[in-house]
Amino acid sequence: MYTNTKLYIDGDWKLSKTNLAIEVLNPANESIIGEVSKASLIDLQASVESAENGFKVWKSTPALERAKILNKAADLLRERVEDIARTMTLEQGKPLKQSKIEVLSAADIINWFAAEAVRSYGQVIPSRNNDVLSYTLKVPVGIVAAFTPWNFPINQIVRKISAALAAGCSIIVKGPEETPASPAQLVQAFHDAGLPSGVISLVFGDPQEISTYLIEHPKIKKISFTGSTPIGKQLASLAGKHMKKVTMELGGHAPVLIFKDADIDKALHQIINFKFRNAGQVCISPTRFLIEKEVYEQVVEKIAQLVKALKVGNGLDESTDIGPVIHSRAYGNLKSIVADALHHGAKLVCGGEQIQGEGYFFQPTVLKDVPLTAQCMNSEPFGPIVICNSFDDYSDAIEEANRLPFGLAAYAFSQNNKTCIELGRDLECGMLSINHIGLSFPELPFGGIKDSGYGTEGGSEAINAYLDTRLVTVSA
Ligand code: NAD
Repeated sequence: MYTNTKLYIDGDWKLSKTNLAIEVLNPANESIIGEVSKASLIDLQASVESAENGFKVWKSTPALERAKILNKAADLLRERVEDIARTMTLEQGKPLKQSKIEVLSAADIINWFAAEAVRSYGQVIPSRNNDVLSYTLKVPVGIVAAFTPWNFPINQIVRKISAALAAGCSIIVKGPEETPASPAQLVQAFHDAGLPSGVISLVFGDPQEISTYLIEHPKIKKISFTGSTPIGKQLASLAGKHMKKVTMELGGHAPVLIFKDADIDKALHQIINFKFRNAGQVCISPTRFLIEKEVYEQVVEKIAQLVKALKVGNGLDESTDIGPVIHSRAYGNLKSIVADALHHGAKLVCGGEQIQGEGYFFQPTVLKDVPLTAQCMNSEPFGPIVICNSFDDYSDAIEEANRLPFGLAAYAFSQNNKTCIELGRDLECGMLSINHIGLSFPELPFGGIKDSGYGTEGGSEAINAYLDTRLVTVSA
């Protein structure tokens, strides 16, 4: 049913040298379903040595061959989707249909980067002297260390692995200890596709110990992190101290601007389903619903109706819309977020309570008239909570949307063309979706600005994070 996870180092699954392990829970019933090996410094040292050997082999493997192995791994993921999705739901909690989408979209991401591998072009630069040829090569940066969270156990890793491998890098991933087995199945697909030993390592353990070791290690050339802004800042500063390249995909607090001229029913149908995906534990989850005052009460009422119809339950049950949140810490946080908002004067429209019984289930919640002093107006709730506030006019909406130091995703609904064009110019965010939901396809840039990080993990720019530009200028 659920397999224990070992460390993947030098092309093989291994127990930690210390034999230590971390328990893995099913958040739907709080039972221990297995364990994951906890890497020691000796294991980490072995992962760096094998990544060094892997890099030598992989950077010399022609791009076309690299692309073939990536595409084979994508095919294997598609073949194994049912099995991997079930593992993911058991350890992460999200509904099975969402786990399947995650596995299948991981396969699409791998295909996208496989195609990019063969298009990493340099340039020939017109020379000042006819005897000189000047050109650039795109060369892989070297060994990458990546750190990924539990909310999308496969998707968060696959964006990093695929881009790194397409570029010709080797990569050591510290995966999420809460959800280790589905990432292990992802790595197994690359193994079975014929990836040479050492090109990928997958380790788990003490996040701080592993990140400090790897970021400081002179053989590691590039850091990529997805997670919270405070941890991202810590890791970015350590990377800066050691002059390492960095990609940071951090937290957000996405505004949703609903103007009175929007097609409101269509907008709410899309955005509310999207809001509760993965119980709201999504960095691009819509969180601050800013609604034009003329339609505010009516929209809040419609949101409440849609939210009350959502079914909370075990993700393995096909009819479940919202699974549990990941761990007891997140569960407790949600309760205190709601209490804090009410304490500051917000009104509870629906939900707001932990669901009693086993599992970390929280009622889908709608809050309205939430003062800016409330905690949830300043840091992302990262859970099944919709926050509704009204705005007077366009500039009022933009001021609130841009008030926070975050700038990841933003959403807007309006049928006025002028408003839509101005939003693209005025909203401070890395990604903006207007009148539909469509941010995370492989061909689209994916990343934030301000405290939400830097660098993109999608689209044609993403592979550049794993490539250096080398100028060669040669005289005959
Ligand atoms: P956390 O900050 O403890 O952990 C988030 C992730 O970072 C985990 O995968 C963890 O293993 C990793 N991490 C923590 N310390 C690290 C370190 N020193 N070095 C390397 N990795 C480290 O938080 P959490 O309680 O799991 O989640 C708290 C908040 O983090 C959430 O409320 C949310 O704001 C944010 N978060 C964001 C994302 C995202 O997709 N951007 C994903 C998960 C969590």
